[in-house]
Amino acid sequence: MPEPTPEKRPFSKILIVGAGPSGLLLALLLSKHGIPTHILEAASHLDPQPRAAHYGAPAIPEFYRAGIIEKMAERGGLVLGGMCWRYPQADGEEEEGKAGYEEHGIVAGFDAGQVMREVEVELDGGKKKMDLRTHCLALQELDQLMLEEVTERYGGTVAWEHRVVGVGQDDEGAWCEVEVGESKEKKVVRGDYVVGCDGANSAVRRALFGEEFPGFTWDAQIIATNTYYPFEKYGWWDANFIIHPEHFFMAAKLTSTGLYRITYGETPNLTHSQYLSRQPHKFHTILPGHPLPSDYQTINFSPYRMHQRCAPKFRVGRVLLAADAAHLCNPWGGLGITGGFVDVGGLYECLSGIWDGKADEGILEVYSEKRIEKWKTIIDPISQENFRRVSDREPGTRLERDGFLQLLKRGETDQVLLKELLMGPMEVRYDFTQHYHDAGKK
Ligand SMILES: Cc1cc2nc3c(=O)[nH]c(=O)nc-3n(C[C@H](O)[C@H](O)[C@H](O)COP(=O)(O)OP(=O)(O)OC[C@H]3O[C@@H](n4cnc5c(N)ncnc54)[C@H](O)[C@@H]3O)c2cc1C
Repeated sequence: MPEPTPEKRPFSKILIVGAGPSGLLLALLLSKHGIPTHILEAASHLDPQPRAAHYGAPAIPEFYRAGIIEKMAERGGLVLGGMCWRYPQADGEEEEGKAGYEEHGIVAGFDAGQVMREVEVELDGGKKKMDLRTHCLALQELDQLMLEEVTERYGGTVAWEHRVVGVGQDDEGAWCEVEVGESKEKKVVRGDYVVGCDGANSAVRRALFGEEFPGFTWDAQIIATNTYYPFEKYGWWDANFIIHPEHFFMAAKLTSTGLYRITYGETPNLTHSQYLSRQPHKFHTILPGHPLPSDYQTINFSPYRMHQRCAPKFRVGRVLLAADAAHLCNPWGGLGITGGFVDVGGLYECLSGIWDGKADEGILEVYSEKRIEKWKTIIDPISQENFRRVSDREPGTRLERDGFLQLLKRGETDQVLLKELLMGPMEVRYDFTQHYHDAGKK
C-alpha cells in the first residue's frame, strides 16, 4: 500500500503530556519520523531529582532507534560490566564468620561484557548489532540530550509551565485543558491523540480512571543518593546489590569519576530531616570501610516510596498512557523506565504505522493489551522478586532458596547459559509491526 500523501495523512499532531524521559523519547522517535509533536510540561525546567540512571537491555534498541547511543557516551554515559549480589556486613553483635558468610563476599555475579557486547537485534525491518549491556547516564543528562534532539534537530516543541488538568476527545481529535504559569490562566490545546507521559501522579490517567490505579505500595522506604566514594579501593564491581532485611543497599557506578548511585533501605514514615540526620550513621554501618562523612561526598539525597501498580487500560479512544503514568514498579533491577522506554518504542511503532498508512487505529488497542500483558507477566513479578531478594531476612541462605542466583552462579562458568539469562528480559519487548497490514508479505 503506498504511503499517504502529506495532505492525506491520517492525523496531524501528537500531544504529549510530560517532558520526562518517556515523553521526550516518544517526541524524539515521532519527530525523527516526521510526525509533528507538541509536549505540555507542568514544570519550567527538566526534573533534577536523582532517579533512573541505569537502563537495561530491553531499552537499548530504543536508544539506537532514536540515534542517541553515541551521544550518550559523549555526555559521560557508561556501559556497566560486572554486576553482583553481596552478603552484608555483620550487624555488630555477630563476629565475622559467625553469620556463615564472608562480609560483603559475593553471592553470585556476572560480567555482561563477553556475552552482551555485540548482539544481533531485529528492528525496523533490519538486523543490527547492538551493545545490550546495561547503559548508564543520569536521567537529567539523558533528558537534556533528548530535549535538544527533539527541539533543535527535529522541530518538536515544548510548552513549559503548561499543567494539564483535564483531557477530552471526540471523533475529530483529542485535547488537553491546561493551566499556564503562575497565573493558572486556562486554555485548551488540541491535537489528534494525547499521550500521558506525566509520571506516577498522571493527570491524564486520572482523567481516564479517577483514583483507580490497581496495585500496592510497599511498606518500605528507600533513599536514593548520588555519592562520591572509592568503591574500587574495596574491589567492588560496577553494580553491587547487598542483601539484608534492614541494611540492604545498591551501589552502582554513575560516572567514570567515582560518582555512585547508593540507594539504601530506611525505616518508613520518618521526616526528610530525620532521614538526613541518620544518613552518616547508615553509611558508616553499611558501606565497605565504615566511612565517616569526611570520606565521601553526597551530592543528591532523595527519599522515595515504592509501588507496584498498573492502570486498567493504556488506551481509551484517542488518549494513551505510557511509562510511569501507566505502570509503576520498584527500582531494584532498573525495570522502571526501562519498561517505560519499551512502551514508548511500541507506541512509536503503532503511531508511525498509522501515520504511514500501514496500520489502522485498532493497533492502539493491541498496544494497550500487549503492554499490560508484558507488565503483568514479566515486569511486575521480576521487579517484586528483585526487591525481595535484596531485602531477604536471611542473607546467608538466600542462595539456597533462589533459583535465579543459582543459575547466575552456574553462568559464571557457562557462557551460553549466562547469555540466555541476560537475554531473558528482552521478552519485555513486543514487535507491533507484526500487526501492520502488510506484515508477513515481504
Ligand atoms: C530512586 C529511583 C531510582 C530509579 N532508578 C531507575 C533505574 O536505574 N532504571 C530504571 O529503568 N528506572 C529507574 N527508576 C524509575 C524511573 O525513574 C521512572 O520510571 C521514570 O522517571 C519515569 O519516567 P516518566 O517519563 O514516565 O515520568 P516522570 O519522570 O515522572 O516524568 C513526568 C513528567 O511529567 C510532568 N508532569 C507531571 N504532571 C503533569 C501535568 N499534569 N501536566 C504536565 N506535565 C506534567 C512532570 O513534571 C515530569 O516532567 C528509578 C526510580 C527511583 C525513584
